[in-house]
Amino acid sequence: MRMLVVEDEPALARQVASALQENGFTVDLAADGEDGQHFGATENYDAVVLDLGLPVLDGVSVLRAWRDEGLAVPVLILTARGSWQDRVNGLNAGGDDYLVKPFHMEELIARVRALIRRSSGLADSVLSAGCVELNTVSGTVTHDGEAIRLTANEFKVLSTLMMRPTQVHKKTDLAEMVYGMNEDRDSNTIEVFVARLRRKLGADVIQTVRGLGYRIAEP
Ligand code: CA
Repeated sequence: MRMLVVEDEPALARQVASALQENGFTVDLAADGEDGQHFGATENYDAVVLDLGLPVLDGVSVLRAWRDEGLAVPVLILTARGSWQDRVNGLNAGGDDYLVKPFHMEELIARVRALIRRSSGLADSVLSAGCVELNTVSGTVTHDGEAIRLTANEFKVLSTLMMRPTQVHKKTDLAEMVYGMNEDRDSNTIEVFVARLRRKLGADVIQTVRGLGYRIAEP
C-alpha cells in the first residue's frame, strides 16, 4: 500500500514515514502544500496523511483542490491541539478522519488502515483468497492455516492484489505500490515477486491476465 505524507515538521514527517514503512507501507513525503497537492494529483495513493498547517499552500486548500478535481483518496488530517475550527474546516473540505498532535504512531497506523479498509469496501481486516489469508493488521499471511513468511515487497504485492480482488493490476501499477517516488521503479521485479508468491502460496493463487497484468485468483 502506498501513502503520501504531507508534513512540514521534518522530525515528525520522518517519524510518521518510518512508522508507516515498518508497517509495510510505501511512503512519499512532501514538506509543503504545493508539492503535496501536486503529488496527490499526479500519483496513485491508497491514503494520504495531511497536516493542515503547511507552508506555501495550507492543508485545507490542498484538500479542496483535490476534491474539486474529483480525487477520492482517503485523507487523514493532522491538526494542532485545541484548534477545533481547523478540524471542522478540514472535515468540511473533504477530510475523512483527523488526529490531534501529539499522537501515538499506533493510533495513526490504525486510523490509516481503517480508512483504507473503508474506502476499499472491506469490513474485515483479514482478507482471504482460496486457502490464503492475509491479516492487514498483524501483517501475517497463512496458507491452509500455516504461517508463511513473506518479504516486505512480496507482502506489498499480495496485499495490493487482495485488497481489490476483482481488479486486474498492471505491472507498472504494482511497481508504484512497491516503490516510492524516488526509487527506481523496475516493473520487471514484479514478475519476480509474483513468481516467489506462487512458489510459497501455490501456483494458482495469482492469475496472469495476458497483456494486462495480474489478478488474485477467484476462490
Ligand atoms: Ca505544520
